Amino acid sequence: MAVIRTEAIALKGKDLGEADRLVTFFSRSSGKIRAVANGARRTRSNMSALVQPFTYSHLSIYQGSSLARVRSGEIIQGNLSLREDLLLMTASSYLAEMVDFLMEEDDPNEAVFALLLNSLAIFKERGVERILLRSFEIRLMSILGYRPRLENCVHCGAETKPGKGSAFFSVAQGGLKCPECVEESDREISWGTCQVLGRLLGTPWRQLFNLRVDSKMQKELESLLAEFIEYRSERRFKTLSFLQTLLEEPS
Ligand SMILES: [Zn+2]
Repeated sequence: MAVIRTEAIALKGKDLGEADRLVTFFSRSSGKIRAVANGARRTRSNMSALVQPFTYSHLSIYQGSSLARVRSGEIIQGNLSLREDLLLMTASSYLAEMVDFLMEEDDPNEAVFALLLNSLAIFKERGVERILLRSFEIRLMSILGYRPRLENCVHCGAETKPGKGSAFFSVAQGGLKCPECVEESDREISWGTCQVLGRLLGTPWRQLFNLRVDSKMQKELESLLAEFIEYRSERRFKTLSFLQTLLEEPS
């Protein structure tokens, strides 16, 4: 029976039998892993802390012919604060849901691991900001090979330059279109939103908060990326609409 030792972030879990939990982790060395944590529902068990959503730990996991099993672990960051606040919990769950759905088991991806870890750390430090959510979405899609094309028309290759009027984005083809190639199904967005989209990919995390994004751009980005992700993943993420409702409530 092989033993994997890896850093991992718990994404979600469900009860199994009387005292166990079946937990989905995203690990640094092995990608997504589903493993049984025996005794995790006993409050005094060390396992119970390891399997809480968003806990970041060093794990030792048995991988046999059937389901993997958590052997032991040591918490690096408990991330309790992400579970104690409804908005933080929902936003963190959204990131976890995307990683869980879009990543396969046994498919390690260091960039995705770092993206998730960083994003959770920034949530803890700064709370949930829309620009962070958008940055996570576009970075994740780009890592997975769906980086939107913004410099050239996705249809004819002509350079796309900011000008008067609007830009047009083809969700199906994954990027901007020049005025000659625009079709009815393409989305009209402002050039300002396009520029922010590009900046979201290239700007270091800490500087993201300096980007000037007005509420019209925020809305355009939010709905464009939601449609883009839904088209690529063929899924509407459950937590996203709840998260949007929470963010719109006056605080
Ligand atoms: Zn074109």
